[in-house]
Amino acid sequence: MERRELLKIRLQLLKREIRETNLVAVSKNTDSESIRFAFEEGQVDFGENRVESLEEKSIELEDLDLNWHFIGKLQSNKINRLFKIPRLKYIHSVDSLKLLEHLYKRVDQISSQRVGFFLQVNTSEEAEKSGFCIKNYDELAAAANLISQHLDSKFYLLGLMTMGKYRTDNFEEDARLCFKRLNAVRSTLKRDFELPDLKLSMGMSQDYSMAIEEGTDFVRIGTSIFKPEDPRD
Ligand SMILES: *Cc1c(COP(=O)(O)O)cnc(C)c1O
Repeated sequence: MERRELLKIRLQLLKREIRETNLVAVSKNTDSESIRFAFEEGQVDFGENRVESLEEKSIELEDLDLNWHFIGKLQSNKINRLFKIPRLKYIHSVDSLKLLEHLYKRVDQISSQRVGFFLQVNTSEEAEKSGFCIKNYDELAAAANLISQHLDSKFYLLGLMTMGKYRTDNFEEDARLCFKRLNAVRSTLKRDFELPDLKLSMGMSQDYSMAIEEGTDFVRIGTSIFKPEDPRD
């Protein structure tokens, strides 16, 4: 089947399934042409995990009125470059207090109207994952404190992000546990701090149906949309 037709069908099926949940189409493993096709099919939110690729694609697609989401590991020496991307909407991967401090210091570099962010929480406690550690509430609390001092900033808290466990034989159950933990972190933060309403960003190709059942607001899906082969083969 033609690439464009395939993309159209997958997006339609996915949208029907996730209903009102916000879809971030993760385009990190695809090219600008596929992003353009998806945009023409009505998809406006796209996620990238490397600053360099985001720069390239944002130039190639500068004629499109789409929204960019940064979802990858962010090094503090690349913040200025990221903030300069036109149409950067959200950063899903603010994974430490140190990074948050660096981001606030560079807010004047932001070229879009405002940029929202999610605090990334390591709910699976796997060593290779980044994010605030659920066993160390102090760091999350310090971040919440810092955020409450910057409520008028162009860089504003939108919610919490997590990823399901990778290395497991029981991925459905373990993903669900991760998503429940993120809900619990949200409740604790709400109890302890005066923060805006917090959204959740959780669920990828493998586990988005569990994330939706656990009440996520955003799913980040790449493979199921952009993988090259026909799923019905
Ligand atoms: C790659 C990636 C996704 C999408 O994963 P798929 O399995 O391709 O759907 C979602 N979130 C993050 C943080 C990613 O790096």
